Amino acid sequence: MVSFFNLSNGALVESVSGRRLPVENPALAQVWASIPDSHAEDVATAIEAAKAAFPHWSALRAEERAVWLMRLAQAIRNHFDALAEAESRDTGKPLWLTRKVDIDRAARNFEFFASGIQHFASEAHPTDAQTLNYTLRKPLGVVACISPWNLPLYLFSWKIAPALAAGNCVVAKPSEVTPATAAMLAEICVDIGFPAGVLNILHGRGAEVGEALVTHPDVKAISFTGGTATGKTIAALAAPEFKKLSLELGGKNPHLIFEDADLEQAVDSAVRSSFTNQGEICLCGSRILVQKSIYEAFRSAFVEKVKALKVGPPEAEDSFMGALVSKAHFDKVQSYVALAKQEGARIWCGEEALDLPQAYQKGYFMRPVVMDGLSGDCRVNQEEIFGPVVSLMPFAHEAEGLTLANDSRYGLAGQVWTRDLNRAHRVAEALETGIVWVNCWMVRDLRTPFGGMKHSGVGREGGWEALRFFTEPKNVCVQWSKD
Ligand code: NDP
Repeated sequence: MVSFFNLSNGALVESVSGRRLPVENPALAQVWASIPDSHAEDVATAIEAAKAAFPHWSALRAEERAVWLMRLAQAIRNHFDALAEAESRDTGKPLWLTRKVDIDRAARNFEFFASGIQHFASEAHPTDAQTLNYTLRKPLGVVACISPWNLPLYLFSWKIAPALAAGNCVVAKPSEVTPATAAMLAEICVDIGFPAGVLNILHGRGAEVGEALVTHPDVKAISFTGGTATGKTIAALAAPEFKKLSLELGGKNPHLIFEDADLEQAVDSAVRSSFTNQGEICLCGSRILVQKSIYEAFRSAFVEKVKALKVGPPEAEDSFMGALVSKAHFDKVQSYVALAKQEGARIWCGEEALDLPQAYQKGYFMRPVVMDGLSGDCRVNQEEIFGPVVSLMPFAHEAEGLTLANDSRYGLAGQVWTRDLNRAHRVAEALETGIVWVNCWMVRDLRTPFGGMKHSGVGREGGWEALRFFTEPKNVCVQWSKD
């Protein structure tokens, strides 16, 4: 059993309550670690430390803060194997994936914003020969970063890095479901002597430590990624104090495949974009809309490839999918498969028996599910499932495809597959999503605005958007006389 601790004021500490929460390995259904069950008192102490550290941290030059972020990135790279193993054990996802994506990307997030802050500039607006407006962008003070369980260190660092780069001090909370790599980052901070109080990491339950953070009067901004229901609670709690909010929430991403698409590429990409990370990525396509003339050809090629995907132990190199993250989440995903059947779906694959080694037989594994035959407005096509379950729907023409795609309260990420350049731009423009991929998926450039519209969120992360979020603009207007 591994014991993880909070990072508060530069030290690894137990929570005031002394109580602990278990951390489970979902592939084995076994508890492997524990974290502090923190409460409002722990939040208050961490915020005091962050406030005390702010004057010095915010007064450093951008290059000096960048040096610290680069040290963090390098330390992540130095602990690469241990972090990749812990991430896989905590989430149930394949080890090759945490090595290829999660941990490398966490280091890159710090490297990217270490560089970004040195290029960040603010605007000047010369009004006339004697008047100049210029904008100052100051760090906000103490900010809260709250992240989910699906890409633990990757999304944690995606928030912390720009917040620190911009000169803020951070109190951060990872998901209690997958706290290990955030706790290891805390150990790394102590090892490298990261300045005390600048980054504080608290563990515990969302409704306790998360809410105490969100409602604390000294927290000036909240950057949150998680479910839409939690986002609503946070928005309501933050509203009375007019806190700055960045909310990255749920999705029900449409994937439009037109008859002129490169079918082989579209099928291969749909397999990846539906089932990578067990379908537990906010950007995964979950509603695959295919033009009628190619519908059956697409479905049979897609189902054949999905049936061949290997679900197995996270450590096995050939496991495309590992376990779902928790029993609660597994039950939720399974309940949607049952609901789909009640709603009249035809299940094309996903119900075949699993072939797992003895040690993994209690783990939360399931095969990827492909279904069709449901109307666009049924619950399975409207509610976020966030697992390895996709629903196929045919459409006759572009307008019908777009109507189906936009018939959602969510608006995170859309995909368009076509070889018609005019259609690609037209449909990309009409899709009600914050992100559109044309003939590709998950091609990321960290400079681009990242986030969703409608119930998928408020604000954008990435590049200048993140640095603007974590700073307060102040316009200064200067007029001078000619004499
Ligand atoms: P949750 O909303 O349950 O939790 C997210 C984080 O918020 C966790 O750290 C959680 O803590 C914390 N939290 C829970 N309740 C509160 C509260 N009342 N006040 C403050 N913090 C709270 O999401 P999941 O962890 O289940 O993540 C899955 C969701 O995240 C999906 O809906 C997915 O679409 C979304 N997501 C969105 C992304 C985007 O970029 N738009 C990217 C990735 C995921 P704890 O775990 O301890 O309860």
